[in-house]
Amino acid sequence: LWVTFEGGDGSGKTTQAALLQEWIEGTGRTVVRTREPGGTEVGVLVRDIVLHHRGDIAPRAEALLYAADRAHHVETLVRPALDRGEVVIQDRYLDSSVAYQGAGRVLDAGEVRDLSLWATGGALPDVTVLLDLDPGAARARLDADDKPFDRLESEKADFHARVREAFLALAAAEPGRFLVLDATRPIDELAADIRRRLQPLL
Ligand code: C5P
Ligand code: MG
Repeated sequence: LWVTFEGGDGSGKTTQAALLQEWIEGTGRTVVRTREPGGTEVGVLVRDIVLHHRGDIAPRAEALLYAADRAHHVETLVRPALDRGEVVIQDRYLDSSVAYQGAGRVLDAGEVRDLSLWATGGALPDVTVLLDLDPGAARARLDADDKPFDRLESEKADFHARVREAFLALAAAEPGRFLVLDATRPIDELAADIRRRLQPLL
């Protein structure tokens, strides 16, 4: 079982991924929790490039760096874990690239998706949880938690609006893979909805 979490910065992906890991491990399954960019040793180096040079990397180069991280991550970590029958819970995957490098950087969404699919041999998760959050609310939330704005700070508001719309469009196009949740709801309610969706797949 392969589950990915998607959504803007501050939408609660990491919190929900951790709660899900705890619950699934409680059922006796082995869980690998990982993230993109930066789920492997090589990936950490790529993460360093894309995050420290955001805004001054050519958009196509940025897309290729994320795709390179993804190719290495899937081949060396995700696929082997799935082949061993383990559960993989992942913070961000190719939908993030379609949203950020595609809609955000205004590259062609179809091309960005095809690049990712080429990089990974067409690997798609069983379930993708989209934590949908208005960028304004996300900013307020990160501020309240005293967390750095990160991407929210370094990009204009319309960037985040495009990213959010792209995530919602991806979910609408693949309703079977996506579970879309309103990220403003209480943490425990969201966790319960996610468990309900995954229970039959375990
Ligand atoms: O989710 P995480 O905090 O690890 O993401 C790090 C940053 O990278 C975020 O600010 C996110 O907006 C950005 N990102 C991106 N394109 C991706 C994945 C993440 O711009 N494909
Ligand atoms: Mg996070």
